[in-house]
Amino acid sequence: MHIAILGAGIMGSSLALQLARLGHRVALIDRLDEPVAAASRWNEGKLHLGYIYTADSSLATARSVMRGGTQFPRVVEDLLSVRLADHSTADDDIYLVHRDSIVPADEIGATFLRIDALARETAGPHDYFGNLVNARSRRLSASQLARVANSERIVAGFAVPERSVDTQWLAARFADALRNSAGIELRLSTEVASVAPIGAVDGRWLVTTGEGSTDTYDLVVNCLWEGRLAIDVGAGVTPAPGWSHRFRYCLFITTRSPVAIESALMAVGPFGDVKNYDGRHIYMSWYPAGMVSEGHDIAPPTPPLFDTAGEAAFVSTVRRELGSLLTGVEEVFEAADTVRIHGGYVFAKGRGALDDPAATIHRWTPANSRPRLSWQRLSLAS
Ligand SMILES: Cc1cc2nc3c(=O)[nH]c(=O)nc-3n(C[C@H](O)[C@H](O)[C@H](O)COP(=O)(O)OP(=O)(O)OC[C@H]3O[C@@H](n4cnc5c(N)ncnc54)[C@H](O)[C@@H]3O)c2cc1C
Repeated sequence: MHIAILGAGIMGSSLALQLARLGHRVALIDRLDEPVAAASRWNEGKLHLGYIYTADSSLATARSVMRGGTQFPRVVEDLLSVRLADHSTADDDIYLVHRDSIVPADEIGATFLRIDALARETAGPHDYFGNLVNARSRRLSASQLARVANSERIVAGFAVPERSVDTQWLAARFADALRNSAGIELRLSTEVASVAPIGAVDGRWLVTTGEGSTDTYDLVVNCLWEGRLAIDVGAGVTPAPGWSHRFRYCLFITTRSPVAIESALMAVGPFGDVKNYDGRHIYMSWYPAGMVSEGHDIAPPTPPLFDTAGEAAFVSTVRRELGSLLTGVEEVFEAADTVRIHGGYVFAKGRGALDDPAATIHRWTPANSRPRLSWQRLSLAS
């Protein structure tokens, strides 16, 4: 088939490689001039197993991410012929419990044990770097905690078997693979304006671009992330209510020499985190400063751009706030070669403030996942 995939982020790019491998002709369309240049390049790269979702004690949210999370390394390694472990955090991730956490430390510990069991049940011996067969989170002792955190606002810590991958490295590998794949036509610098069925919804589809070109395809797959809803609505797919678009800025730091800061995340609420992928590539975020815009419309809000003074203020806020809680932050800035600010959209089927335990952003439900189709019937068989 001739298939249009809209959006060359990790979703669109993975699907394009997979479909080209199966022998289909794929057009991969994106408004940017590079593939994998938006949220999929500029994020923390946590391969989620659900440990962040302890506000959902039903484990429904952990269950919803567990299967994809456990299989992610194996699937990506197969698609790209790379070894993820060489570009991922090497040790168990540390969750530090802030005293303002919306979930108390003991409850977090108990939920972690249940997520461990879910991980052991779900993962095969070759999933998730082979790390989950004996998955077991553990509470840090007082001396272990004191090595990572330097504030009484951090009341407990846990090591959990989650890892994170360096997304800048991964994005570059996806871009290489797309360019070397014979079955993929990369249509970059191309805005998708609309998608519509030509006749019946199970027939061919028309994709119109901002430049006015119109092309027809056997199938169209919408992987536009923050741009997805506008195209869906135009094609007759109404999103389930309750979504949010947030834009977040973070720091991506390269150091001249290796630094020892541990990968740690503060939970559960609007705090921050650090990822140390290989000693020299570091990610830092402080959510209250980095989350610069949020909207609930079909189109996402446009994020503010920092001027030079705003950039300096942002870097110094992240440095000060993380440095007041975590050990080793100053050492990173002193060894820094480059400190870059980048960000991306987070589209979520939920909304509300992270410090509100009732906010739907903390949990997956079947109701907030099901879009409505205005079509009578969709038969892909034909
Ligand atoms: C700061 C931050 C930290 C995050 N941390 C994590 C994490 O640790 N773990 C995790 O699993 N997830 C994390 N995420 C979420 C993760 O980045 C996204 O889930 C993922 O990148 C989405 O991939 P995607 O391919 O759907 O979207 P994208 O990578 O955004 O790709 C969508 C593409 O569509 C293009 N596009 C949009 N509209 C149009 C249009 N109309 N026409 C043409 N092109 C268009 C965009 O240019 C973009 O290239 C984080 C996100 C952010 C911002």
